[in-house]
Amino acid sequence: MQDTALDIQTIRKDFPILSREVYGRPLVYLDNAATSQTPRQVLDVIVDYYSRYNANIHRGVHALSQEATDAYELARKKIQLHFNIGSTKEIIFTSGTTHSINLVANGFSSILKAGDEVLVSAMEHHSNIVPWQMLCERTGAILKVIPMSQDGELLMDNYRELLSGNTRLVFCNHVSNALGTINPIKEIIDEAHKVGAAVLVDGAQSAAHIRADLQELNVDFYTVSAHKMCGPTGIGILYGKEEWLQKLPPYQGGGEMIAEVTFEKTTYADLPHKFEAGTPNIAGGIAFGAAIDYLNNIGFDAIEAYENELLEYATASLLAIDGLKIYGTSKRKTSVISFNLEGIHPYDVGTILDKLGIAVRTGHHCAQPIMDFFGIPGTIRASFSFYNTKEEVDTLVAGVIKAREMLL
Ligand SMILES: *Cc1c(COP(=O)(O)O)cnc(C)c1O
Repeated sequence: MQDTALDIQTIRKDFPILSREVYGRPLVYLDNAATSQTPRQVLDVIVDYYSRYNANIHRGVHALSQEATDAYELARKKIQLHFNIGSTKEIIFTSGTTHSINLVANGFSSILKAGDEVLVSAMEHHSNIVPWQMLCERTGAILKVIPMSQDGELLMDNYRELLSGNTRLVFCNHVSNALGTINPIKEIIDEAHKVGAAVLVDGAQSAAHIRADLQELNVDFYTVSAHKMCGPTGIGILYGKEEWLQKLPPYQGGGEMIAEVTFEKTTYADLPHKFEAGTPNIAGGIAFGAAIDYLNNIGFDAIEAYENELLEYATASLLAIDGLKIYGTSKRKTSVISFNLEGIHPYDVGTILDKLGIAVRTGHHCAQPIMDFFGIPGTIRASFSFYNTKEEVDTLVAGVIKAREMLL
C-alpha cells in the first residue's frame, strides 16, 4: 500500500474546531466514538448546497431540482462504491443507525411469529437492543443474549449453541462503542446463515475505522451514521439485501415512497424510495458523500495503522497510572479506551478533565448491560481519531494523574 505515515499537523488544519480553546486551554477532543469532527471539505459542501442549488429532489423539472437530485444520487453511488454494495437499490438513506435499526425491527413485526428466536450480543448499544425488545413484545418472539468474556470478546462456542432452527435474526455491532472490541462478524454471519437466520450488523462504530466490504461479508443488513465518520448529524444509511428489502413492508407513509395514490389503494415506489418517505436530509446526504471522499483521500490503511499506534501508546501510558483499570482488552480493538480509577467515580474524573480542555465521555455509553456485566456504574472513555496526536495522549495522561491526586 501507499505511505502510511500521515501528516497529522496538515490534516488537523482541515478541522476548524480543533484550533478552538475550552476554558482557556487548547481543546483535546477525545470523544470521537460519540461523534467525529467535521473537516472544511465537508462543511464547504453543505454551504455550497444551500448557497447554490437548494431544492427538493426527485420532483421538480427545474434546473435546481435536477442538480440537487443528481448530487444526492451521486452520494448514494459513492456510498455504494465505498462499502462495495451490489446495487444502489439496497441503500436506504435514514437519519442514522438508530433510525435504520428501527426500520428493520418494525418490518420484522409482520414476519416474526411467537416462539421465534432472535439473538443479540452482550455488548450492544441501546439502539441495537431496545427496538428488538419492542419487536419481541409485539410478536411474542424470544430475545436471547450471546455472552462475552471478561476481556470483552463474544463467546463464540456459546453463540453456536444458541443458534437453532428457531433463530430468525442475529444482531451484533461490528465494533463496540463502549469497549472498542472488533467482533468476528464474518464468522457470526456465516454461522447464522447455516441455520437460515438473517444478520443485522450495527456498523456505527466501525465505519470510521474499518472499510467494510458488504458483499464479501454477505451480511443481510448493515447500518451507518455519517456523523461518526466526519459527516454531519441526522444522516446515515441502512444497507439491506434486495430480497429482504422487497419482503419488508414500508416503514413510514408519505410523499416520495409511492408509485400511485388513490383513496382506494396506494402502490409503493421501487427500492430504495419505498423506504424514503418525505423530504430527506438532502444537504446531509451530499455531505455524507463528501465525508467518504475525504476519508478515502487519507486512506483507510493509513488511518488504521496510525490509530493502532495511538491506541498502543495510550494504552501503555494509561496503564502506568496506579489503580487504573481498562475495560475491553480484546486482542482486536479500535482506538477506544474505557477505564476507571480505583475508588473514584468516573464522572468526577470526567469533570476535572473537562476543566483541562479534555473532552472524554463518562457514563454507561448507551450500553448499560456492559456496565452491569463488569459491576460498575460507568467508565471514562477516551476515543481517538486519526487527527489526534501523541501529545494529546500525553495531555490526557497528565490530566488523569492530576484528577487522581485531587480525588484520592
Ligand atoms: C453511536 C452508535 C449508535 C447510535 O448511532 P446514532 O447515530 O445515535 O443513531 C449505535 N450503535 C453503536 C455501536 C454506536 O456507536
